[in-house]
Amino acid sequence: MYDIAIIGLGPAGATLARLLDKKYKVIAIDRKKPETGKCCGGLLSPDAQKILAQFDICLPKDVLVDPQIFSVKTIDLDNHIEKFYHRFYINMNRAKFDDFLISLIPANIEINNNTICTKIEKENNTYSLILKTDGIKRMEKSRIIIGADGANSIVRNTFYPKSKIQKYISIQEWYKDNKNSPFYSCIFDKEITDSYCWTISKDNYFIIGGAFPVKDMNTRFEKLKEKMKNTGISFGELVKREGCFVYLNKGVMGTCAGKNGSYLIGEAAGMISPSSLEGISYSMESAKKLAEIINSDFDNIGYKYFMGTLGIRIKLLFKIFKMPFMYNKILRKIIMKSGIKTIRK
Ligand SMILES: Cc1cc2nc3c(=O)[nH]c(=O)nc-3n(C[C@H](O)[C@H](O)[C@H](O)COP(=O)(O)OP(=O)(O)OC[C@H]3O[C@@H](n4cnc5c(N)ncnc54)[C@H](O)[C@@H]3O)c2cc1C
Repeated sequence: MYDIAIIGLGPAGATLARLLDKKYKVIAIDRKKPETGKCCGGLLSPDAQKILAQFDICLPKDVLVDPQIFSVKTIDLDNHIEKFYHRFYINMNRAKFDDFLISLIPANIEINNNTICTKIEKENNTYSLILKTDGIKRMEKSRIIIGADGANSIVRNTFYPKSKIQKYISIQEWYKDNKNSPFYSCIFDKEITDSYCWTISKDNYFIIGGAFPVKDMNTRFEKLKEKMKNTGISFGELVKREGCFVYLNKGVMGTCAGKNGSYLIGEAAGMISPSSLEGISYSMESAKKLAEIINSDFDNIGYKYFMGTLGIRIKLLFKIFKMPFMYNKILRKIIMKSGIKTIRK
Protein backbone atom coordinates (compact mmCIF):
# COMPACT_ATOMS: atom_id res chain seq x y z
CA MET A 1 0.00 0.00 0.00
CA TYR A 2 1.44 3.36 -1.04
CA ASP A 3 0.52 6.66 0.59
CA ILE A 4 0.61 8.52 -2.74
CA ALA A 5 0.44 7.41 -6.38
CA ILE A 6 1.42 10.02 -8.99
CA ILE A 7 0.23 9.34 -12.53
CA GLY A 8 2.41 11.24 -15.00
CA LEU A 9 5.96 12.56 -14.74
CA GLY A 10 5.82 15.68 -16.88
CA PRO A 11 6.78 18.99 -15.23
CA ALA A 12 3.84 18.69 -12.78
CA GLY A 13 4.38 15.10 -11.62
CA ALA A 14 8.19 15.36 -11.52
CA THR A 15 8.01 18.56 -9.45
CA LEU A 16 5.54 17.03 -6.98
CA ALA A 17 7.61 13.84 -6.66
CA ARG A 18 10.71 15.93 -5.97
CA LEU A 19 9.05 18.02 -3.25
CA LEU A 20 7.14 15.38 -1.26
CA ASP A 21 8.31 14.62 2.23
CA LYS A 22 10.42 11.45 2.57
CA LYS A 23 8.02 10.12 5.24
CA TYR A 24 5.57 9.14 2.49
CA LYS A 25 5.70 5.94 0.46
CA VAL A 26 5.26 7.14 -3.12
CA ILE A 27 4.93 5.45 -6.50
CA ALA A 28 5.26 7.58 -9.66
CA ILE A 29 4.18 6.22 -13.04
CA ASP A 30 4.71 7.43 -16.57
CA ARG A 31 3.87 5.68 -19.80
CA LYS A 32 6.72 7.33 -21.68
CA LYS A 33 10.29 6.11 -21.85
CA PRO A 34 13.25 8.41 -21.11
CA GLU A 35 14.35 10.61 -24.07
CA THR A 36 10.86 10.71 -25.55
CA GLY A 37 9.45 14.18 -25.39
CA LYS A 38 5.93 15.49 -25.45
CA CYS A 39 4.61 17.24 -28.55
CA CYS A 40 5.37 20.76 -27.29
CA GLY A 41 6.85 24.10 -28.35
CA GLY A 42 9.50 23.61 -25.66
CA LEU A 43 9.69 27.29 -24.75
CA LEU A 44 10.37 28.12 -21.12
CA SER A 45 8.42 31.28 -20.27
CA PRO A 46 9.58 33.94 -17.81
CA ASP A 47 7.01 32.64 -15.28
CA ALA A 48 8.45 29.13 -15.54
CA GLN A 49 11.98 30.52 -15.25
CA LYS A 50 10.92 32.36 -12.08
CA ILE A 51 9.58 29.17 -10.50
CA LEU A 52 12.81 27.33 -11.31
CA ALA A 53 14.67 30.24 -9.68
CA GLN A 54 12.47 29.89 -6.57
CA PHE A 55 13.37 26.18 -6.50
CA ASP A 56 17.04 27.19 -6.88
CA ILE A 57 17.26 25.01 -9.99
CA CYS A 58 19.71 25.90 -12.78
CA LEU A 59 19.22 24.40 -16.23
CA PRO A 60 22.10 22.34 -17.60
CA LYS A 61 23.12 23.60 -21.03
CA ASP A 62 22.33 20.36 -22.84
CA VAL A 63 18.62 21.07 -22.17
CA LEU A 64 18.96 24.17 -24.37
CA VAL A 65 18.76 24.11 -28.15
CA ASP A 66 20.18 26.27 -30.88
CA PRO A 67 19.21 29.08 -31.52
CA GLN A 68 17.85 31.21 -28.67
CA ILE A 69 15.28 33.55 -30.21
CA PHE A 70 14.33 36.95 -28.79
CA SER A 71 11.26 37.83 -30.82
CA VAL A 72 8.08 36.29 -32.08
CA LYS A 73 6.92 37.00 -35.60
CA THR A 74 3.15 37.30 -35.40
CA ILE A 75 1.57 36.38 -38.71
CA ASP A 76 -2.06 37.39 -39.06
CA LEU A 77 -3.27 35.62 -42.18
CA ASP A 78 -6.82 36.92 -41.66
CA ASN A 79 -5.73 40.56 -41.93
CA HIS A 80 -2.47 40.06 -43.89
CA ILE A 81 -0.31 41.75 -41.23
CA GLU A 82 3.06 40.67 -39.83
CA LYS A 83 4.64 42.20 -36.74
CA PHE A 84 7.52 41.31 -34.40
CA TYR A 85 7.22 41.32 -30.62
CA HIS A 86 9.99 41.01 -28.03
CA ARG A 87 9.93 37.70 -26.12
CA PHE A 88 11.99 36.30 -23.24
CA TYR A 89 11.60 32.55 -23.73
CA ILE A 90 14.28 29.90 -23.41
CA ASN A 91 14.28 27.54 -26.38
CA MET A 92 14.63 23.98 -25.02
CA ASN A 93 14.62 20.32 -25.90
CA ARG A 94 11.40 19.28 -24.16
CA ALA A 95 12.39 15.62 -23.76
CA LYS A 96 15.65 16.62 -22.06
CA PHE A 97 13.84 19.12 -19.84
CA ASP A 98 11.42 16.43 -18.62
CA ASP A 99 14.28 13.95 -18.08
CA PHE A 100 16.22 16.60 -16.18
CA LEU A 101 13.27 17.24 -13.82
CA ILE A 102 12.88 13.48 -13.31
CA SER A 103 16.60 13.18 -12.52
CA LEU A 104 16.05 15.51 -9.53
CA ILE A 105 13.49 13.17 -7.90
CA PRO A 106 14.95 11.64 -4.73
CA ALA A 107 15.73 7.92 -4.67
CA ASN A 108 13.01 7.06 -2.14
CA ILE A 109 10.32 7.63 -4.80
CA GLU A 110 9.57 4.46 -6.79
CA ILE A 111 9.64 5.56 -10.45
CA ASN A 112 8.00 3.34 -13.06
CA ASN A 113 8.73 4.48 -16.63
CA ASN A 114 7.18 2.82 -19.66
CA THR A 115 4.19 1.98 -17.46
CA ILE A 116 0.67 2.98 -18.35
CA CYS A 117 -2.15 3.29 -15.85
CA THR A 118 -5.14 1.76 -17.61
CA LYS A 119 -7.78 1.78 -14.87
CA ILE A 120 -8.35 3.28 -11.41
CA GLU A 121 -11.01 2.28 -8.90
CA LYS A 122 -11.84 3.56 -5.45
CA GLU A 123 -13.07 1.32 -2.68
CA ASN A 124 -13.16 2.07 1.07
CA ASN A 125 -10.88 5.12 0.71
CA THR A 126 -8.27 3.10 -1.15
CA TYR A 127 -7.37 3.47 -4.82
CA SER A 128 -6.55 0.42 -6.93
CA LEU A 129 -4.51 1.12 -10.03
CA ILE A 130 -4.15 -1.27 -12.92
CA LEU A 131 -0.69 -0.74 -14.42
CA LYS A 132 0.71 -2.20 -17.61
CA THR A 133 4.45 -2.47 -18.38
CA ASP A 134 5.55 -4.23 -21.61
CA GLY A 135 2.13 -5.90 -21.83
CA ILE A 136 2.28 -7.26 -18.26
CA LYS A 137 -0.51 -6.11 -15.95
CA ARG A 138 -0.31 -5.63 -12.20
CA MET A 139 -2.27 -3.88 -9.50
CA GLU A 140 -1.03 -1.36 -6.93
CA LYS A 141 -2.95 0.29 -4.10
CA SER A 142 -2.64 3.79 -2.75
CA ARG A 143 -4.28 6.04 -0.14
CA ILE A 144 -4.37 9.06 -2.42
CA ILE A 145 -3.91 9.50 -6.14
CA ILE A 146 -2.53 12.48 -8.08
CA GLY A 147 -3.45 13.04 -11.71
CA ALA A 148 -0.41 14.71 -13.27
CA ASP A 149 -1.23 13.00 -16.53
CA GLY A 150 -1.83 16.00 -18.78
CA ALA A 151 -4.68 16.47 -21.26
CA ASN A 152 -7.04 13.49 -21.53
CA SER A 153 -6.13 12.59 -17.94
CA ILE A 154 -7.33 9.16 -16.82
CA VAL A 155 -7.68 10.49 -13.26
CA ARG A 156 -9.83 13.40 -14.44
CA ASN A 157 -11.87 11.24 -16.83
CA THR A 158 -12.50 8.63 -14.10
CA PHE A 159 -13.32 10.83 -11.11
CA TYR A 160 -14.39 14.17 -12.59
CA PRO A 161 -16.17 13.38 -15.87
CA LYS A 162 -18.63 16.23 -15.26
CA SER A 163 -15.88 18.85 -15.08
CA LYS A 164 -15.93 19.60 -18.79
CA ILE A 165 -13.05 21.15 -20.69
CA GLN A 166 -12.55 21.48 -24.44
CA LYS A 167 -10.04 19.13 -25.99
CA TYR A 168 -8.09 20.14 -29.09
CA ILE A 169 -5.46 18.19 -30.99
CA SER A 170 -1.96 19.53 -31.50
CA ILE A 171 -0.01 18.34 -34.49
CA GLN A 172 3.64 19.17 -35.14
CA GLU A 173 5.94 18.16 -37.97
CA TRP A 174 9.73 18.35 -37.75
CA TYR A 175 11.66 19.07 -40.97
CA LYS A 176 15.36 19.17 -41.65
CA ASP A 177 15.92 22.90 -41.88
CA ASN A 178 15.83 24.16 -45.41
CA LYS A 179 17.75 27.41 -45.07
CA ASN A 180 14.82 29.32 -43.56
CA SER A 181 16.43 31.91 -41.34
CA PRO A 182 15.76 30.69 -37.78
CA PHE A 183 12.61 32.14 -36.33
CA TYR A 184 9.69 31.64 -34.02
CA SER A 185 6.26 32.62 -35.25
CA CYS A 186 2.63 32.61 -34.14
CA ILE A 187 0.11 32.26 -36.91
CA PHE A 188 -3.53 33.28 -36.72
CA ASP A 189 -6.00 32.17 -39.37
CA LYS A 190 -9.72 31.62 -38.66
CA GLU A 191 -10.03 29.24 -41.62
CA ILE A 192 -7.42 26.92 -40.08
CA THR A 193 -8.21 27.09 -36.36
CA ASP A 194 -9.79 29.29 -33.72
CA SER A 195 -6.70 28.61 -31.58
CA TYR A 196 -3.31 29.30 -33.18
CA CYS A 197 -0.42 27.76 -35.09
CA TRP A 198 3.34 28.21 -34.84
CA THR A 199 6.73 27.56 -36.36
CA ILE A 200 9.98 27.29 -34.45
CA SER A 201 13.58 26.45 -35.24
CA LYS A 202 15.38 23.96 -32.99
CA ASP A 203 18.82 22.42 -33.54
CA ASN A 204 18.72 22.47 -37.36
CA TYR A 205 15.08 21.40 -37.45
CA PHE A 206 12.22 23.55 -38.59
CA ILE A 207 9.02 22.70 -36.72
CA ILE A 208 5.52 23.65 -37.79
CA GLY A 209 2.48 22.96 -35.67
CA GLY A 210 -0.90 24.06 -34.52
CA ALA A 211 -3.77 23.34 -32.15
CA PHE A 212 -6.88 22.27 -34.04
CA PRO A 213 -10.46 21.27 -33.32
CA VAL A 214 -10.50 17.46 -33.51
CA LYS A 215 -12.82 17.47 -36.54
CA ASP A 216 -10.87 17.89 -39.82
CA MET A 217 -7.57 18.29 -37.95
CA ASN A 218 -5.48 16.77 -40.76
CA THR A 219 -7.09 18.91 -43.47
CA ARG A 220 -6.56 21.98 -41.32
CA PHE A 221 -2.89 21.10 -40.76
CA GLU A 222 -2.32 20.55 -44.51
CA LYS A 223 -3.97 23.91 -45.20
CA LEU A 224 -1.59 25.56 -42.70
CA LYS A 225 1.46 24.14 -44.49
CA GLU A 226 0.10 25.22 -47.86
CA LYS A 227 -0.47 28.76 -46.64
CA MET A 228 3.00 28.92 -45.07
CA LYS A 229 4.58 27.73 -48.32
CA ASN A 230 2.79 30.62 -50.02
CA THR A 231 4.52 33.03 -47.62
CA GLY A 232 7.89 31.77 -48.83
CA ILE A 233 8.71 29.13 -46.19
CA SER A 234 10.36 26.04 -47.61
CA PHE A 235 10.24 22.62 -46.01
CA GLY A 236 13.17 20.18 -46.06
CA GLU A 237 12.93 16.44 -45.47
CA LEU A 238 10.18 15.38 -43.05
CA VAL A 239 11.79 13.81 -39.97
CA LYS A 240 8.85 13.17 -37.66
CA ARG A 241 5.22 13.96 -37.00
CA GLU A 242 3.82 14.06 -33.49
CA GLY A 243 0.54 14.93 -31.83
CA CYS A 244 -1.29 15.06 -28.55
CA PHE A 245 -4.43 16.35 -26.93
CA VAL A 246 -4.34 19.81 -25.45
CA TYR A 247 -6.90 21.24 -23.04
CA LEU A 248 -8.32 24.56 -24.17
CA ASN A 249 -9.74 26.06 -21.03
CA LYS A 250 -11.89 28.90 -22.35
CA GLY A 251 -13.75 29.35 -19.02
CA VAL A 252 -12.63 29.12 -15.38
CA MET A 253 -15.01 26.21 -14.85
CA GLY A 254 -12.56 24.04 -16.82
CA THR A 255 -10.09 23.94 -13.94
CA CYS A 256 -10.55 21.12 -11.45
CA ALA A 257 -8.32 20.67 -8.39
CA GLY A 258 -9.94 17.44 -7.16
CA LYS A 259 -11.10 16.32 -3.71
CA ASN A 260 -11.56 13.30 -1.39
CA GLY A 261 -8.23 11.65 -2.15
CA SER A 262 -7.89 12.22 -5.90
CA TYR A 263 -6.25 15.49 -6.90
CA LEU A 264 -5.22 17.05 -10.20
CA ILE A 265 -2.16 19.16 -10.98
CA GLY A 266 -0.86 20.84 -14.12
CA GLU A 267 -2.64 20.42 -17.41
CA ALA A 268 -4.79 17.57 -16.03
CA ALA A 269 -6.30 20.22 -13.74
CA GLY A 270 -6.91 22.47 -16.76
CA MET A 271 -4.07 24.74 -15.67
CA ILE A 272 -2.77 25.86 -19.04
CA SER A 273 -3.09 29.25 -20.72
CA PRO A 274 -5.94 29.16 -23.25
CA SER A 275 -4.41 32.11 -25.12
CA SER A 276 -0.79 30.99 -25.60
CA LEU A 277 -1.00 27.29 -24.57
CA GLU A 278 1.86 28.00 -22.15
CA GLY A 279 1.53 25.55 -19.29
CA ILE A 280 4.86 24.46 -17.82
CA SER A 281 4.79 27.26 -15.21
CA TYR A 282 1.26 26.38 -14.02
CA SER A 283 2.23 22.72 -13.80
CA MET A 284 5.21 23.39 -11.56
CA GLU A 285 3.32 25.98 -9.50
CA SER A 286 0.32 23.73 -8.83
CA ALA A 287 2.66 20.84 -7.95
CA LYS A 288 4.51 23.08 -5.49
CA LYS A 289 1.23 24.12 -3.82
CA LEU A 290 0.01 20.53 -3.54
CA ALA A 291 3.34 19.28 -2.15
CA GLU A 292 3.31 21.99 0.56
CA ILE A 293 -0.21 20.99 1.61
CA ILE A 294 0.41 17.22 1.54
CA ASN A 295 3.62 17.65 3.55
CA SER A 296 1.88 19.70 6.24
CA ASP A 297 -1.60 18.14 6.51
CA PHE A 298 -2.12 14.83 4.67
CA ASP A 299 -5.68 14.39 6.00
CA ASN A 300 -7.04 17.79 4.91
CA ILE A 301 -5.86 18.38 1.37
CA GLY A 302 -8.92 19.15 -0.78
CA TYR A 303 -10.11 22.57 0.43
CA LYS A 304 -6.58 23.83 1.16
CA TYR A 305 -5.38 22.85 -2.32
CA PHE A 306 -8.43 24.44 -3.95
CA MET A 307 -7.75 27.69 -2.09
CA GLY A 308 -3.99 27.41 -2.66
CA THR A 309 -4.51 27.35 -6.42
CA LEU A 310 -6.84 30.37 -6.47
CA GLY A 311 -3.94 32.55 -7.67
CA ILE A 312 -3.43 30.26 -10.67
CA ARG A 313 -7.13 30.42 -11.53
CA ILE A 314 -7.03 34.23 -11.36
CA LYS A 315 -4.00 34.30 -13.68
CA LEU A 316 -5.87 32.02 -16.10
CA LEU A 317 -8.88 34.33 -15.91
CA PHE A 318 -6.68 37.23 -17.10
CA LYS A 319 -5.56 35.04 -20.01
CA ILE A 320 -9.23 34.46 -20.89
CA PHE A 321 -9.84 38.25 -20.87
CA LYS A 322 -6.84 38.67 -23.16
CA MET A 323 -8.17 36.20 -25.70
CA PRO A 324 -10.43 38.53 -27.75
CA PHE A 325 -7.41 40.79 -28.42
CA MET A 326 -5.58 37.81 -29.89
CA TYR A 327 -8.39 35.85 -31.48
CA ASN A 328 -10.95 38.41 -32.60
CA LYS A 329 -9.98 39.41 -36.14
CA ILE A 330 -10.97 43.08 -35.82
CA LEU A 331 -9.50 43.67 -32.35
CA ARG A 332 -6.28 41.92 -33.38
CA LYS A 333 -6.05 44.12 -36.48
CA ILE A 334 -6.44 47.28 -34.37
CA ILE A 335 -3.80 46.13 -31.87
CA MET A 336 -1.30 45.03 -34.52
CA LYS A 337 -1.81 48.12 -36.69
CA SER A 338 -1.35 50.37 -33.65
CA GLY A 339 2.21 49.08 -33.33
CA ILE A 340 1.91 48.84 -29.51
CA LYS A 341 4.87 46.83 -28.15
CA THR A 342 6.09 45.89 -31.63
CA ILE A 343 9.77 45.97 -32.52
CA ARG A 344 11.11 47.18 -35.85
CA LYS A 345 13.61 45.08 -37.72
C1 LIG B 1 1.80 21.58 -29.07
C2 LIG B 1 1.98 22.16 -27.70
C3 LIG B 1 2.94 23.15 -27.51
C4 LIG B 1 3.15 23.64 -26.23
N1 LIG B 1 4.16 24.54 -26.05
C5 LIG B 1 4.44 24.99 -24.81
C6 LIG B 1 5.56 25.83 -24.59
O1 LIG B 1 6.31 26.16 -25.50
N2 LIG B 1 5.78 26.27 -23.32
C7 LIG B 1 4.98 25.91 -22.28
O2 LIG B 1 5.21 26.34 -21.14
N3 LIG B 1 3.93 25.08 -22.47
C8 LIG B 1 3.66 24.60 -23.69
N4 LIG B 1 2.63 23.73 -23.89
C9 LIG B 1 1.87 23.27 -22.72
C10 LIG B 1 2.69 22.23 -21.96
O3 LIG B 1 3.10 21.22 -22.84
C11 LIG B 1 1.84 21.62 -20.86
O4 LIG B 1 1.16 22.63 -20.17
C12 LIG B 1 2.72 20.87 -19.88
O5 LIG B 1 3.43 19.86 -20.52
C13 LIG B 1 1.85 20.28 -18.81
O6 LIG B 1 2.67 19.58 -17.93
P1 LIG B 1 2.04 18.40 -17.08
O7 LIG B 1 3.15 17.81 -16.31
O8 LIG B 1 0.84 18.90 -16.40
O9 LIG B 1 1.52 17.37 -18.19
P2 LIG B 1 2.34 16.64 -19.34
O10 LIG B 1 3.59 17.35 -19.64
O11 LIG B 1 1.38 16.43 -20.44
O12 LIG B 1 2.74 15.27 -18.70
C14 LIG B 1 1.80 14.26 -18.50
C15 LIG B 1 2.56 12.96 -18.36
O13 LIG B 1 1.64 11.95 -17.99
C16 LIG B 1 1.93 10.77 -18.71
N5 LIG B 1 0.67 10.02 -18.80
C17 LIG B 1 -0.49 10.42 -19.35
N6 LIG B 1 -1.45 9.48 -19.20
C18 LIG B 1 -0.85 8.46 -18.54
C19 LIG B 1 -1.31 7.19 -18.09
N7 LIG B 1 -2.58 6.78 -18.27
N8 LIG B 1 -0.44 6.36 -17.47
C20 LIG B 1 0.85 6.76 -17.26
N9 LIG B 1 1.34 7.94 -17.67
C21 LIG B 1 0.50 8.79 -18.28
C22 LIG B 1 2.45 11.26 -20.05
O14 LIG B 1 3.30 10.31 -20.66
C23 LIG B 1 3.20 12.54 -19.66
O15 LIG B 1 4.56 12.32 -19.46
C24 LIG B 1 2.36 23.21 -25.15
C25 LIG B 1 1.39 22.25 -25.36
C26 LIG B 1 1.19 21.73 -26.62
C27 LIG B 1 0.17 20.66 -26.82
